[in-house]
Amino acid sequence: MRQKASHSLSAKTLRTITAAVFCLVLVLVAVLFSTWLQKPEENKTTLSTFAMGSLVQQTVYGNDAEAAATAASSSVTQLENKISWRVEGSDIQALNAAAGHQDVSLSDETAGVLALLLDVCRESRGAFDITIAPLSLLWNFDENPALPSAEDILYFQQYVGYENVSLNQGGRRAHLDLEECAVDLGAAGKGAACDAAMEAYKEYNVTHAVIAVGGSVGLYGTKPDGSDWNIEIRDPNRDGALGVLHLVGGFISTSGSYEKYFEENGVMYHHILDPETGYPAESGLVSVTIVADSGALSDALSTACFVLGYEESLSLLEHYGAEAVFVTEQNEIFVTEGLTERFELSAAGYSLVSGHA
Ligand code: ADP
Ligand code: MG
Repeated sequence: MRQKASHSLSAKTLRTITAAVFCLVLVLVAVLFSTWLQKPEENKTTLSTFAMGSLVQQTVYGNDAEAAATAASSSVTQLENKISWRVEGSDIQALNAAAGHQDVSLSDETAGVLALLLDVCRESRGAFDITIAPLSLLWNFDENPALPSAEDILYFQQYVGYENVSLNQGGRRAHLDLEECAVDLGAAGKGAACDAAMEAYKEYNVTHAVIAVGGSVGLYGTKPDGSDWNIEIRDPNRDGALGVLHLVGGFISTSGSYEKYFEENGVMYHHILDPETGYPAESGLVSVTIVADSGALSDALSTACFVLGYEESLSLLEHYGAEAVFVTEQNEIFVTEGLTERFELSAAGYSLVSGHA
């Protein structure tokens, strides 16, 4: 009898406990729901700074948007201080100074960028070449550009060759074979800066962000309303937009002959050099826009494809799973398959040729 009584008592206790747990869960759900309802509006911040010789423009959404944008901006400057040959004490300045002699140790950031860019040098068969410095300094597009003599071009051209760069100790150290060689990562620095910003966005739990560093753009997440980002491509022939790319994410870089150039004796000389000739690339293009899943890659490919021209670029793009919009001197626009639905032409005077030729 006693045993039965204790049994029925424990069943009752069990019912009470179950009811209490059920109530507790209900209260918890209600509390969670109300805090969700009261969740503060996420912040939006815009920030414009200057790095890598360019404007750095960010729009960042998230509870820590301001801190995230500041952190991204300082990541870009830190990267510049490591990969720019112009910055005193950078890894690349040390590498150039030690050319023909010792190897130098690299920071993680420089090691990562250098390994990727050397890969693009190889895959583009030298159309993109990070050892362009002797030639780019000769042409001097950044300061006082002038047409060099043919002898000088030939002389400096012999020291352009990415085969002269070797990475040792698993990419932790680098070496330049000849004293006259020097590395210039200018063609991919702004894209690499977009990659660096993404790390900061992750760290600060940013929800959506867009960063533009000169001609390179990095997209983080979707737009706040979930729709595609609209990224304008510049019209190579006049002020204004050529059209818009509707994108979910990724990185976009444009290289164009209109960016830096000078005229001498009626000839236009622009800043994207063909390492094979030593002169500005003449591939029939006026601009190339690349969409890729890394900023450094999109930037390097925009330069590589500008040198290679439309036809020659296709296998390179395929290799990296990247897409492109090419604009030719004849005002034709070639769009690779992955972007045909995403590119919207707005400028007049161009003819759109979609898909692979
Ligand atoms: P921007 O300097 O406006 O970002 P690009 O991304 O197209 O333009 O890079 C051009 C810069 O890259 C040049 O100013 C020069 O420093 C360098 N460069 C020029 N030609 C080449 C090349 N074939 N390979 C690698 N770098 C190049
Ligand atoms: Mg580039």
